[in-house]
Amino acid sequence: MSELMNSIRCVGLVGAGTMGRGIAQVCAQAGFEVKLFDALPQVAQQSKASIEKALLKLIEKGRLTDDDRQAILSRIHPCEALDNLFQCDLVIEAAIENLEIKRELFKSLDEGCKEQTILVSNTSAIPISSIAALTTHRQRIAGLHFMNPVPLMKLVEVIQTPVTSASVVQSLLAFSAAIGKTPILVKDGPGFLVGNCARAFYTEALRLLKECIASPALIDRIIREAGGYRMGPFEVIDLVGLDVNYPSSKALFEDSFFEPRYQLTSGYKLLVEAGFLGRKTGMGFYRYEDGQAVIEPVSVPEAQMNTGLPRSAWLWAEKSSGLEMLTSLAKKAGVVVLKEPSPGVLCLVAPIGRDTVSVVKQLGIDPGSTVAVDTLYGWSSHRTFMACPGVRPEPLAHARTLLASDGVVASQINDSPGFIMQRFQAVITNLACDLMQQGLASADALNQGMKLGFNFPQGPLEAGDALGSETVLTIVQALYDFYEEDRYRPSPWLKRRGRLGLSLTTPD
Ligand code: NAD
Repeated sequence: MSELMNSIRCVGLVGAGTMGRGIAQVCAQAGFEVKLFDALPQVAQQSKASIEKALLKLIEKGRLTDDDRQAILSRIHPCEALDNLFQCDLVIEAAIENLEIKRELFKSLDEGCKEQTILVSNTSAIPISSIAALTTHRQRIAGLHFMNPVPLMKLVEVIQTPVTSASVVQSLLAFSAAIGKTPILVKDGPGFLVGNCARAFYTEALRLLKECIASPALIDRIIREAGGYRMGPFEVIDLVGLDVNYPSSKALFEDSFFEPRYQLTSGYKLLVEAGFLGRKTGMGFYRYEDGQAVIEPVSVPEAQMNTGLPRSAWLWAEKSSGLEMLTSLAKKAGVVVLKEPSPGVLCLVAPIGRDTVSVVKQLGIDPGSTVAVDTLYGWSSHRTFMACPGVRPEPLAHARTLLASDGVVASQINDSPGFIMQRFQAVITNLACDLMQQGLASADALNQGMKLGFNFPQGPLEAGDALGSETVLTIVQALYDFYEEDRYRPSPWLKRRGRLGLSLTTPD
């Protein structure tokens, strides 16, 4: 443990709002003295009172004793002036997200604090180097980005600027561990790591919606049930509020010099401008009644619903494992598997990264009888299928019945290269690979950060490795070939590893 860390006893908090309060609580619980200051009179006192309420809840749950509560509260000292924090060993700025205010605060802290004091900002997205612009002792300035709600979220991003000293970084890593958090080290830049990598989670869902591949409810459901994500992107945006998500997403797009991977959609902007801000306004990507999202049922024409199983079908898959899945399903349902496609008979195909039309053209089969199904995601939880424009109702209904014949839910989407889950996951992993190429953090930090900081079921590199780096590259390359847009260009990191079949965590 670094010497500086050993000397951290007193922590100053500037800003006693949602984050300052939470950070003060976890520091005091870990045994640190805490000085709490807010620009608004009474706020620091009120925050201490609300920390007391939070501690009482912990007592109710049997996680704390009353003696603990008293000891913790005795370590929290509301202050009336910023000067009262000048003797602290570490000062954490958690004032409102405003660059000018943060710059002035850091100028005052840098001028007033003792030489050894470490100064950090809990900013969500403003680069630390920019906040430190008016200071002179920049080696002691870093970022310490907590997640909301602070007492519950394990992750802390320790953000290192090009001039933050190694000993300050070591102290912050040790301090974060001492207050019970899992720190990851991240290079300074717009959005840091979690806020940056999480953008693909939103932007690819927005793109799917813009192209009318499926409704927000179906996109969310497939991402949850086939992808294993706890919540779908539209549910998350509606929960945090479009007024919170949209500006930060737009800022990252602009700060990255209009990197097309971060591009939003005009449909999203329209909702924001209309004041449809999500749950809080009763309308966002979903409409809410009594706090519940209203999901319109998908109407299925009568003729499609009443067709039974096909007598026979021709099967094709890009991977042998996919062909085994299709064959086993057909046999179980008593469907005869043909050796060659036959006119008018269902062709059930399982492409990787491509849409149905591309497969039909490659194989020279009938577009009117072909249906594609995703065998990479959701085979046993939620199957996704799609067809060419102009597909005939009968083969489509046959496919629908066959795919649901063993009780698994099967949903139809419009033709899309990579269905929903293949492209959604591949785009997230491709962005994570780009962040690796930029040296933003280690592979471990990236995987950990997205699991602990954003509730991803797997880290984005882990998820890529589970598919295989070659497969991820195949999907991203197919998207790029189809759309011919830079947004889908494979990251150099992915290209090198995918071409060699190496793990995406393999260092340069
Ligand atoms: P908040 O609005 O709840 O609290 C901010 C507090 O800062 C207010 O009490 C305000 O009076 C005080 N303040 C404003 N100017 C000040 C000044 N000059 N000196 C001292 N206090 C001042 O905001 P929050 O959600 O706690 O966010 C605080 C910081 O943490 C922001 O930079 C935000 O981006 C970041 N952050 C927020 C979240 C989140 O989910 N809320 C998550 C991570 C990081």
